[in-house]
Amino acid sequence: MTHCTVFCEKCHEYLQLNKWYPLEPTAVGCRISTTHATLISAAERGDADAFPELVNAFMAFVDGHGSHPLYLYFSGGDYPWWPEEPNWFLWKRIPGPFYRPSIDQTDIDLPRNIIDDLGITNWADALAHYRATCPCVERPEDLEKAFLSFVTARA
Ligand SMILES: [Zn+2]
Repeated sequence: MTHCTVFCEKCHEYLQLNKWYPLEPTAVGCRISTTHATLISAAERGDADAFPELVNAFMAFVDGHGSHPLYLYFSGGDYPWWPEEPNWFLWKRIPGPFYRPSIDQTDIDLPRNIIDDLGITNWADALAHYRATCPCVERPEDLEKAFLSFVTARA
């Protein structure tokens, strides 16, 4: 099943929309504008009214990025923020209806999410988190420099 994600190319941030999106999926990575206020369900139009939380998360995402280039990404399972992709670790997943971060979650592998959502800001704890819960990340020790630079940038 093809799912949609909206992302900001400049901030490297993304919000999962799943089957809801504000445009027809004409192409992977089609650009959106801030005028697309209403999410349209891929499966059933009008469905978005039943999901105000997602509409709110989407609008907050759009507003939060001002004039940054925002794109819709349609994929059935291949994303730039997956650990096998180059520079995947630059991305940050934004909380919304499909992502409610918790310390028990096993798929929080992006360094910025580990820092901002889990509150882990030292490398030893981050490495322990990777080894305990992120089997997809084969060489977590390679992330130390990036992780520490994100911690520094945040401080
Ligand atoms: Zn942005």
